[in-house]
Amino acid sequence: MKEKINQIINRYSADRNRLMDILLDIHEVQGYVDKDDIKLLAETLEISMAEINETVSFYHFFSDKPRAKYNVFLNKGITAQMSGRKAVKEAFENSCGVAFGQVSDDGMFGLNDTSCIGMNDQDPAALINDVVFTNLTAYRVEKLISGLREGKELNQVIYESYGDGHNADPDVQSMVYNHIRKGSILLNNDYQRFEVLQKELKKHSPQDVIQIIEDSNLRGRGGAGFPTGMKWRFGRLVEGEHRVIICNADEGEPGTFKDRVMLTEFPDLVFEGMVIAAYATGADLGLVYLRYEYKYLLKYLNKILAEMREQNLLGKNINGVKEFNFDIRIQLGAGAYVCGEESALIESLEGKRGEPRDKPPFPVEKGYKEYPTIVNNVETLASAVRILKNGAEWYSSFGTKDSTGTKLLSISGDCKFPGIYEVEWGTSITEVLEMCGADEVQAIQVGGPSGMLIGPHDFDNLTSSELMKWHKPSGMMVAEKFFDRKLSYSDLPTGGSMIIFNNERELLRDVVMNFMDFFIEESCGSCSTCRNLPFIMKKKLEKILNGHGVRQDIDDLLSWGKTLKVSRCGLGQTAGNPILTSILNFRHLYEQHVQAMADYDNLFDITKSVEAANKFVGRKTEFHQSN
Ligand code: SF4
Repeated sequence: MKEKINQIINRYSADRNRLMDILLDIHEVQGYVDKDDIKLLAETLEISMAEINETVSFYHFFSDKPRAKYNVFLNKGITAQMSGRKAVKEAFENSCGVAFGQVSDDGMFGLNDTSCIGMNDQDPAALINDVVFTNLTAYRVEKLISGLREGKELNQVIYESYGDGHNADPDVQSMVYNHIRKGSILLNNDYQRFEVLQKELKKHSPQDVIQIIEDSNLRGRGGAGFPTGMKWRFGRLVEGEHRVIICNADEGEPGTFKDRVMLTEFPDLVFEGMVIAAYATGADLGLVYLRYEYKYLLKYLNKILAEMREQNLLGKNINGVKEFNFDIRIQLGAGAYVCGEESALIESLEGKRGEPRDKPPFPVEKGYKEYPTIVNNVETLASAVRILKNGAEWYSSFGTKDSTGTKLLSISGDCKFPGIYEVEWGTSITEVLEMCGADEVQAIQVGGPSGMLIGPHDFDNLTSSELMKWHKPSGMMVAEKFFDRKLSYSDLPTGGSMIIFNNERELLRDVVMNFMDFFIEESCGSCSTCRNLPFIMKKKLEKILNGHGVRQDIDDLLSWGKTLKVSRCGLGQTAGNPILTSILNFRHLYEQHVQAMADYDNLFDITKSVEAANKFVGRKTEFHQSN
């Protein structure tokens, strides 16, 4: 193995910044990276073993221990739970003869839970050694595991034919379906591949391109909504030996899968957007950070980049423009939600653990390897191409004044037609619910767990008598008015994830608890607020749900949620949102559980608590009665 590892290291010119690739390749060959490998890597790359250990231990898909021949990673997100995950999990355990978190005695199967894998429209879903299995049932699990036991390959136990569109491409061959339900200006077959690069770009100076993007009022589609043209203008102004364009394809927000579909059906549009961004900003290096869960697309995406090189749309003097040199490399992640944050993503691109940086400096000043770096989302880059083709005015005719253009929504949960919908900004929640066939809606999680849980007073999905009934148990808050909320930066901003919950769902016990678990697991652990408060808040919620809560507990949750906002990055700042927004819009559910009128915890039994603590630490306490 030593020789193979040396070959892998040489493949990346022993570059410390390529540590992610080196580790991914070692996993490909051996399945894990052990202490001896880490020692060898440290010596050759001239970094400490601690630094390599930091990276190996940070990512879900790395391991420092031998793994099974087949490693199952079953999504444990809320949409999987809503779609029958429990039965699927049991079927895996029964068929493989091992519990989750362990490897079977024969070394054949390892079972693991994992956070959202971007298949919420076809859950329960799992990755088995990078191959995606969707719409799992107990029956299908039994069949596929028995097939593997018989010696079949993973691609021979796929129980459905390949999915639609390019999912069936020879370089993809995946059973994933796109589920494109509604297209508009991005998801549109009138797209002429690379037409803008070949015909339009030469007509404009880089400054013109920036001006057009500014005039269109395009804002970043990852969620933060920073004006794209302004980001490009700053990027062009900062001095640097090199400039970098990064395409953030690390969508990890539970409920989000739009980038998966864009990269499957319109990767050329996204890459074309990167080249336009490079032209505008003067960048010479392009990096796509692709989430590990979408590794099944890697070969196909690289094929398209190769075609672009052949057509001189990447490389030197692109399309005959003198000294316009730019190329794109795809970097796989290894499973860490926080890497969706741009500075954490850059750390990961440099081969480190994905820990967000302090800002300033912002990436646009000092990013990848300290070069000025512009990080854009998949959808943002694709939008830029359409704007260059049709003009800023055309683009602004879609959407609203402050939110121009369209938004891709990933819709999942309780509706008849989960999938991707491209809607104009300004579309109301009621319209969205009609489009996707959702009835008896109790709540919608807009923007994933870091977003907002909205209730019936935010959309016109219930009759007023139903709404009165809905609010009655609280005895406190009766909405007199519906607010037919609209998707826009000024009303309901969103990165695109929408999960719908019908009236049968247990919002606090199932949904909010699941989201809190997600944040607890995904915190990088650097800030004490983000490391501790989500866990403590979850415990407090458990206490309330177990009937031991008092009103003060609700106030504590609100106060701790505010404290979380001082955390360093968006993950920590929003980690309390599942609880905060459910208190805001579903306070009656909390009120139902807390003891009526109690301001203090009169069910607290100190004797029992001391006994439990003693048992835990192996100590005995004598209770003395005073006379
Ligand atoms: Fe890490 Fe959380 Fe702090 Fe972000 S807020 S840097 S994820 S600990």
